[in-house]
Amino acid sequence: MRVVDDLFAYVWRGRDNNCNSYVFARALADGKHVLIDPGHVTTPALGEAGIARLAESMQDDGLDLKATGLVLLTHCHPDHCEAANSVREDSGALVAVHEAEVDLLRQGGCKVDLVLVEGDLKLGPAAELELRILHVPGHSPGHIAIYWPRHKVLIAGDNVFFRSVGRVDLPGGDVRAMARSLRRLSELDADYVLCGHPYGHPGVIEGRAAVQENFESIQDMMGF
Ligand SMILES: [Zn+2]
Repeated sequence: MRVVDDLFAYVWRGRDNNCNSYVFARALADGKHVLIDPGHVTTPALGEAGIARLAESMQDDGLDLKATGLVLLTHCHPDHCEAANSVREDSGALVAVHEAEVDLLRQGGCKVDLVLVEGDLKLGPAAELELRILHVPGHSPGHIAIYWPRHKVLIAGDNVFFRSVGRVDLPGGDVRAMARSLRRLSELDADYVLCGHPYGHPGVIEGRAAVQENFESIQDMMGF
């Protein structure tokens, strides 16, 4: 589904756990796409197709997964990054991850082409796609959020869900860092929050009022 402009959301609709994926269509030279979080190749518990299903859903929107030029990973849990290497091999896409998770991704067998740090990321032949990378640890040490000021879109990964927040009990999790990260994210001027999973809601939160209401509800929960 198209969220705004050429940004598409692919909400996971299987029964097993997998992430939502997002695509900035044709944002790069030669009409190549930027793919955020390709997810699982195959889901571990039920063996559902992950990346193949994403390819089909993109096809329905006239987008070819093989025309991906860049994979941005919000973080390196397998339900977000497992398919990164296969996308890289099938499409020649570069894979980018925050510096704090480079080793983790390599250990998982994926090559790292670009190392991300906090700051502006301008993409496209004339740098038309202006994104801001925010380092927001808490769920994992090198977790990033991606903010697109042009349309006030926040791609939040596993920090923010609908009426809920990401786990902090996994290795590298940090509850205090999470509270700081959530406060930062809540202070952004956002009309859309795109979550890392469809937990109890598709995870595409649209409209300033809905975004604010969601941050208020998780603020009570986390006390940030
Ligand atoms: Zn995660």
